[in-house]
Amino acid sequence: MAHELPPLPYAEEALEPHISRETIQFHYGKHHQTYVNNLNNMVGGTEFEDSSLEEIIVNAPAGPIFNNAAQVWNHTCYWNSMKPDGGGAPGGALAEAIDKAFGSFDDFKKEFSARAAGNFGSGWTWLVKNGDGSVSIENTSNAGCPLTNGQTPLLTCDVWEHAYYIDYRNARPAYVAAWWNLVNWESAEAAYAA
Ligand code: MN
Repeated sequence: MAHELPPLPYAEEALEPHISRETIQFHYGKHHQTYVNNLNNMVGGTEFEDSSLEEIIVNAPAGPIFNNAAQVWNHTCYWNSMKPDGGGAPGGALAEAIDKAFGSFDDFKKEFSARAAGNFGSGWTWLVKNGDGSVSIENTSNAGCPLTNGQTPLLTCDVWEHAYYIDYRNARPAYVAAWWNLVNWESAEAAYAA
């Protein structure tokens, strides 16, 4: 089964001024595409030849097949975590779960930003839903994905340098601050309700 690069859910320039067209051209067009190509080149002739991305992420041992499959999945989650004119705050059951876990939406935002800024090296910062319906913030390194812990990702911020170096150079906190203006809360609410 050949894995494919999913279409970007908006135009390349749609996230400006927070994330530039040039960043999207590299990040989506080159990095994400390369993970797809690598995965397709690796799985042929292995037990994962006909597996879905999710099956590979949950079952593959640490190594190149896991890394590339998880990076394909993580990036798709990242694009879906953003939209033009996003931001604001969630509503409904997700808002209640965030208040319960963090006290308030502002406290959640502060904690998420601090975790994203402090995620050492390359990785991802996630809002996830746990089995009991609670939500939590998780940091993963490299290609790490909360699916391997049985958690449901609701939202993710890519903190690999390739996500922000063109627009923000080394200033990861400035990138994370801008990222809040793009968050697609409708998508996160739908994932929480699923
Ligand atoms: Mn990335």
